[in-house]
Amino acid sequence: MQIATHRTTQPKTMPDAGALGFGKHFADHMFLMDHSPESGWHSPRIAPHKPFLLDPANLTLHYGQSIFEGLKAFTRPDGSVYIFRLLDHMDRFVRSAERLGMPLFHPSDVAEAIEALVDIDRTWVPKQRGTALYIRPTLIAADNVLGVRPADHYLMYVICSPVGSYYSKGTAPTRIYVEETYSRASLGGLGEAKTAANYAASLLAAEESKAKGFDQVLWLDAKEHRFVEEVGTMNIFFVIDDILITPPLDGTILDGITRRTVIDLARQWHLHFQERPVTMDEVVEASRAGTLQEVFGSGTAATISPVGELNYKGEALVINERPNSIRQRMYDTITGIQYGEVPDTHNWLTRVEPHATTTNGNGHDYAPPEANEVGMMREKA
Ligand SMILES: *Cc1c(COP(=O)(O)O)cnc(C)c1O
Repeated sequence: MQIATHRTTQPKTMPDAGALGFGKHFADHMFLMDHSPESGWHSPRIAPHKPFLLDPANLTLHYGQSIFEGLKAFTRPDGSVYIFRLLDHMDRFVRSAERLGMPLFHPSDVAEAIEALVDIDRTWVPKQRGTALYIRPTLIAADNVLGVRPADHYLMYVICSPVGSYYSKGTAPTRIYVEETYSRASLGGLGEAKTAANYAASLLAAEESKAKGFDQVLWLDAKEHRFVEEVGTMNIFFVIDDILITPPLDGTILDGITRRTVIDLARQWHLHFQERPVTMDEVVEASRAGTLQEVFGSGTAATISPVGELNYKGEALVINERPNSIRQRMYDTITGIQYGEVPDTHNWLTRVEPHATTTNGNGHDYAPPEANEVGMMREKA
């Protein structure tokens, strides 16, 4: 892919690691690519991160035809930069596109674009242990119409944000409210796609749980509110009676890359592992019997996040994690691999080669428009 590059003339400086937070600061550049029925995917380019000029009728704003990804790049002490499970994220990106009726693309093309972008912004990958460059690929509709249908034109873009720890509390155990009123996703819905709509469905429940003093909600199945699905925006794992258990992907649960990583490690370590439905009744019973040993969430942003309490029907199920927990071992191993301290025997890391693209500086100069106009190609056609 020939990626035209327009470098910023006003580079910003990255805040200190302690002031990064999550998703508040953005690297200098972004990747963009357009899609039209006539030309397919075209005009891949890297340009300064700046606002879009959006028509108020933009279809995404009204009907939510949008998907995204979230993945991370890490710097090693020697300055080399690695992206964790890049192709797995790109495979999921294209599956989300398919579910939302959006045009497909080659996962390896977008992976290549992300490598080129991270290479250009490699000074934005923070160096301290615990920090990372969070990469946010996004695909939105670019038609300006109010008729309800999938768009003809699309914009794919990738922005990058240097991040510190996801939770201000660090990895302290979270208090979780078991949600019995609202649901996140239902069978046949969008639960398995990484799309804005799922987040929209979850916001009010999360706010109400916070008002009650909790950190997040535990999502149950939409039909009976009996089966455990996800925790906040993370996949969920239990350790009951020394067995690691996670609910199966039935269409309502997102196929998390961190979830897959935990499962891959569980298999490598020959842990007792089960992928099967988990009911709240079983969790309550295990808690009363003293066999509910661990509960944790998995996701790119927080990696592995321990649950210290599940509040269900007014009862606090407290999880007192033992030393040498599976959760701790998972966290240490996954972050160890990410920072290059533990051998990457699964080939999960992609090294970002300096000047990874052959197209940088090859004369494909990209003259930027005044603003990044979404749907610009449509008006031109
Ligand atoms: C992104 C996401 C996850 C975690 O997926 P990872 O690939 O591990 O980051 C879990 N649940 C939902 C709803 C998500 O959107």
